Amino acid sequence: MGDYEHPTRDSSAWDNPDFCPFCGRELSDGGPGFIDHVSSDEHATCRQRFEQWRENVVTDIGDEWSG
Ligand SMILES: [Zn+2]
Repeated sequence: MGDYEHPTRDSSAWDNPDFCPFCGRELSDGGPGFIDHVSSDEHATCRQRFEQWRENVVTDIGDEWSG
């Protein structure tokens, strides 16, 4: 166990997260900080989980999700 639960996709935590929803690490700069975080090779696992999460959202709501 010890796996970090990401917030639900309609949670406000996704708009301006102050921590990584995957590993729980504190982010330096909200949304941009989160992108930096998942873009880092150091946190490739977070990136993979983020991409997986995003794919799931796209599958669910299709064209409504952009950006
Ligand atoms: Zn993370």
